[in-house]
Amino acid sequence: MCKCQRDRYKDPATENEKVINLREEVIKRLEQTVGNDQFLRNEPMKKHITFRVGGPAACFLMPSTKEQIEEIVHICQEEKTPCFILGNGSNLLVSDQGYDGAVLQIYKNMNQVAVNGEQLQVQAGALLSAIARKALDAGLTGMEFAAGIPGTLGGAVVMNAGAYGGEMKDILESVTVLTPKGEQKKLYKEELQLGYRTSVVKEKGYIVLEAVLNLKKGDPEAIKSRMDELKEQRVTKQPLEYPSAGSTFKRPEGYFAGKLIQDAGLRGYQVGGAQVSEKHCGFVINKENATATDVVNLIHDVQRIVYEKFQVQLDTEVKFLGEF
Ligand SMILES: Cc1cc2nc3c(=O)[nH]c(=O)nc-3n(C[C@H](O)[C@H](O)[C@H](O)COP(=O)(O)OP(=O)(O)OC[C@H]3O[C@@H](n4cnc5c(N)ncnc54)[C@H](O)[C@@H]3O)c2cc1C
Repeated sequence: MCKCQRDRYKDPATENEKVINLREEVIKRLEQTVGNDQFLRNEPMKKHITFRVGGPAACFLMPSTKEQIEEIVHICQEEKTPCFILGNGSNLLVSDQGYDGAVLQIYKNMNQVAVNGEQLQVQAGALLSAIARKALDAGLTGMEFAAGIPGTLGGAVVMNAGAYGGEMKDILESVTVLTPKGEQKKLYKEELQLGYRTSVVKEKGYIVLEAVLNLKKGDPEAIKSRMDELKEQRVTKQPLEYPSAGSTFKRPEGYFAGKLIQDAGLRGYQVGGAQVSEKHCGFVINKENATATDVVNLIHDVQRIVYEKFQVQLDTEVKFLGEF
């Protein structure tokens, strides 16, 4: 769990002007890897995470090839520059103070999906919704559970994303990763140690490059109807009208986080602009111009109050980037 240092709080309105201290020659080397149209300096991270909070990243790179990713990682290692891999930012909270390093976003420039019989060959930046659409068009079943999860394939492998009784583990055949030593490695499902919202990827510092998914021939009408049904459930039950990172907390064994939070009397509980959703207590939302500090303070309050009432520890599902 991140530690929130309240005395570090700064007015986020001034944060975008913060000068970040990466050396100019490191910045130039990084820029050359992707070209200046795919490279941003002091980029506000609130534009890239679904919570819509957070200060700037010193460098923001959008690679389009494995070779570019390899080179960026190599430069960051050589220059001792921190490097963070970003997908669609739908499970992430970035500090108001930003990130003094390179954010490498694997997303729109690496989002190819190819159908090969009952298998899909997918690049890490493809959105799950786009993969599900491709599966539907090819009359393949198995991706329906993931159609409404707003992440990339890479982020979904890291988290073993799941919903409505399905999880990535059910459909993954293999994943190609880049190791911290710069080697490409193909890992089969058994080697990925996929568990509840976890995999070996983070622990080993791997970068997901692409994956092969195993689906099955199905009835396109039934596939479409299941996707529509799950979409309807999300729209009805989740506060999709507000920025968030989905379920803020993992499901504690034997409980549901949302129910515990509701039973603790925290429905609608607010810190600054952050709120425990009134529609679904498992979601912390950005109700009105929240800062990352508001969100983290709210998370800590919820954890403390739920623990005091029920002696159950709520661990966060959402990941943190920067200083809290
Ligand atoms: C409205 C809403 C509903 C949601 N519903 C669900 C749900 O039903 N089920 C569910 O499981 N999740 C859900 N989520 C959470 C989120 O969408 C998933 O966890 C998703 O898999 C995150 O993917 P991302 O690309 O956005 O990852 P990011 O948020 O960008 O990153 C998450 C983590 O993965 C790492 N990462 C990302 N890409 C790579 C890569 N290529 N290689 C290595 N590491 C990488 C990052 O470093 C970070 O640690 C929901 C979120 C929202 C906002």
